Amino acid sequence: MQAEIDRNERQQHDLEMELQSTQDALDKVQRKLREVKTNKEYSAVLAEIDVGKQQMTCMEDQLLQLMEQAEQKLRTKRLQEQRVRATRDVLEEQGHAVDQASELLNQKILVEREKRHQTVVGLNADLLAVYEKLTAQNAGSVVVHLNDGVCGGCHLKVQPQLVSEIRLQESLHTCPYCRLILLWPDECPE
Ligand SMILES: [Zn+2]
Repeated sequence: MQAEIDRNERQQHDLEMELQSTQDALDKVQRKLREVKTNKEYSAVLAEIDVGKQQMTCMEDQLLQLMEQAEQKLRTKRLQEQRVRATRDVLEEQGHAVDQASELLNQKILVEREKRHQTVVGLNADLLAVYEKLTAQNAGSVVVHLNDGVCGGCHLKVQPQLVSEIRLQESLHTCPYCRLILLWPDECPE
């Protein structure tokens, strides 16, 4: 829009220069009018003046048109600038909100890390090794419950022998299909 405004200004300037030189030429012709000696010459000079005046009127109209267009372009440019400012404000606000949310999440992560640390301290080393190997291979939770003999991870039926072993809760068992750690439900509905 600014480039268009600049081009319009250059056009206005060129037209003003042209208008000025036409005006000068017209002045010269009008001075000639005082020196004519015959009627024929007089009519010819008058005709020349008419043509010059018409040219000037035409150029003045063009100039007015350019000025109107320039005003319109300037209005459009201001509107666009307003829109850009408004959008920038919204983006800035959203940026602040994201920063705040991120800060909160970081705090939560710190709290959870501390909780995890406290939990890990009390864990059996072998158990922890299995857990960490599994978390490295799987996204999300790697510990699932056994529900009615069905793995809570892959929903496949586990062999009765394994179910009885898990029920004893004496050692760690993983699902033979999805390899997640299987726990006996904390509270059995029975
Ligand atoms: Zn499974």
